[in-house]
Amino acid sequence: MKSYRKELWFEIPTRRGFVNITRQVEDCLRESGVKEGLCLVNAMHITASVFINDDESGLHHDFEVWLEGLAPEKPYSRYRHNGGEDNGDAHLKRTIMGREVVVAVTAGKLDFGPWEQIFYGEFDGKRRKRVLVKIIGD
Ligand code: ZN
Repeated sequence: MKSYRKELWFEIPTRRGFVNITRQVEDCLRESGVKEGLCLVNAMHITASVFINDDESGLHHDFEVWLEGLAPEKPYSRYRHNGGEDNGDAHLKRTIMGREVVVAVTAGKLDFGPWEQIFYGEFDGKRRKRVLVKIIGD
């Protein structure tokens, strides 16, 4: 069995943002040489997410509005977590959007359903953060 590990780095210039990382994960898969197996992609930070959905800007706006409705950034005093920090909302948003995705690898390709793309979701940006890619199989 082959085993492959790589960290992808991101620095989103704004507090929140979504980045399509599908191409980078496909590059990892090529590099791994795995043809049949599983590909795990997870955020390594508790205020960022990795999720699968459509690459459609209207939907991304809808996510932003929906998440702000559930866990608004301000007022910062709304969250007990915000003693020395101001990112209480980001922890909650990350929990809703998820930590990781697992994609089947079939015949050397990510075995997606229609329109599926992998995204990095940032909820407390303006600093460098990592995503882990782990691929196992043959
Ligand atoms: Zn925090």
